[in-house]
Amino acid sequence: MTVADVIPPPVPGRPGAPRRRCVRHEDREASGRCTECGGAFCRECVTEHEDRLYCAPCFAARLAGAARAVRPKRDWRRWRAAGATAGSMLCLVVGFYALGRVLAAIPPDLHDGTIWKDTFGR
Ligand SMILES: [Zn+2]
Ligand SMILES: [Zn+2]
Repeated sequence: MTVADVIPPPVPGRPGAPRRRCVRHEDREASGRCTECGGAFCRECVTEHEDRLYCAPCFAARLAGAARAVRPKRDWRRWRAAGATAGSMLCLVVGFYALGRVLAAIPPDLHDGTIWKDTFGR
């Protein structure tokens, strides 16, 4: 008797897609994962809200939370993005200013073509 005779073969499933069961319904396959708590739920147990899936308790908690003020975490992220945009804009302006200074500093005889005659001896 070998080990393969004792241990049953693994349940066949789709490769790459682990079989998930709804937390509440053992016999139902989970169709989505709650964004808030990360639990796997079947289609009936999740609610889609703003392109995100929530289980019933999390959705209720979110509705209660939405009534309150906006999360400071999000505001902070938004301000950081605005700061980064302003910083890159400043770099662009300074860069163009420096480029303008360099171009203005080039002697005008470079543009009238005489420098090339001098270089090639004509
Ligand atoms: Zn949840
Ligand atoms: Zn369910």
